[in-house]
Amino acid sequence: MRVKLARHTGFCAGVKRAISITEKTLEASDDAVYCLGAIIHNAQVMARLQSRNLVQVDSPAKVPAGSKLILPSHGSPHKVRSEARRRRIRLIDVMCPYVSSVHAICSRIRKAGMKVVIIGDKDHPEVRALAELAPDASIISDIGGIRHNAFCACDVGIISQTTQSREKFLAMVSGILEKNPKVRSVHIYNTICLDTSCRQEEVRDLARSVDQLLVIGSRSSANTNRLYNIGRRINRRTYLVESAASGVFNRIGRHGTVGIISGASAPDWLVQQIVRKLKEPR
Ligand code: SF4
Repeated sequence: MRVKLARHTGFCAGVKRAISITEKTLEASDDAVYCLGAIIHNAQVMARLQSRNLVQVDSPAKVPAGSKLILPSHGSPHKVRSEARRRRIRLIDVMCPYVSSVHAICSRIRKAGMKVVIIGDKDHPEVRALAELAPDASIISDIGGIRHNAFCACDVGIISQTTQSREKFLAMVSGILEKNPKVRSVHIYNTICLDTSCRQEEVRDLARSVDQLLVIGSRSSANTNRLYNIGRRINRRTYLVESAASGVFNRIGRHGTVGIISGASAPDWLVQQIVRKLKEPR
C-alpha cells in the first residue's frame, strides 16, 4: 500500500491561531477558562483542551463573574459581548480574521441599502452570527431554497459561508440570477476562504488519482463534510475518518494507493496517528 499525503493537511491558519491563543490562555491561568461552544469543530482537540482546564458552556450565564470566556473561531452571537460586559466576564475572541472580514462585508453591504443574501447552512454558528448583523438577510442553504426567496426592484449583495463549496456557491448564484430577473443590481462577494478553496481543489485531484481516499476530521466540521462529499462524488472509495480508533479501517483495502487529506480543524498529530494506523499490519 502506498500513502499519498495531500499538501493541505492539519490546521488552517485561522484554526492554528485560535488554538495557539487558547493554549497560551490556559497556560497563564490557574483557574478554569471557559469557552462558548466548541472553539473549533474537532472532538479530539476539544477533549485535549478540556483536560487542561477548559470548560465548555452553551451560555455566558454559566460562566462565573470575573472568569475568562473564549469565543470560537467561527464567530459567535453578538449579544454575548454585552451580556459578558454586564457580568464582568473577560472575553477572549479567537474568531478567524477571515471570518471577521466577512462580517465587515456583510455590515457594509447592508449599510449600503442592499438586500443581503447569505449562501450557507442556516444552523451553522458562523451563518447565525452573520444573520445577526443583517437581521433581514435571506439565508439560502440549497438550490430548493432559491424559489422561496424572490427579490424585485432592489440591489442584492450575495455573500457565502467561508467553508462553502465553490461549485455550490456558483450554482446558487446562477440560480438566484435566473430566478430574479427584476432586481436592480446584484453584487457577488466570493467569501469562501482561500484555504477552503485550496483543499477542495486538492481533494478533487486526489480523488481522481488514488484507489482509496481518507478525509480526516470530525463529522461536526462543515469543511470536512464538504471535502468528503466532493471526494465521494469522484471516488466511491472515499471514507471520513474521525480518529485512529475508527471502524472504517476494517473497510479499507490493503493494496494500491491511499490518498489522505484533512479538514481545516484536524491537527497534524491526528493525521500522523492515522497514517501510522494505516501502515500497521492488519
Ligand atoms: S477555514 Fe478559513 S475561514 Fe475557517 S478558520 Fe480556517 S482560515 Fe478561517
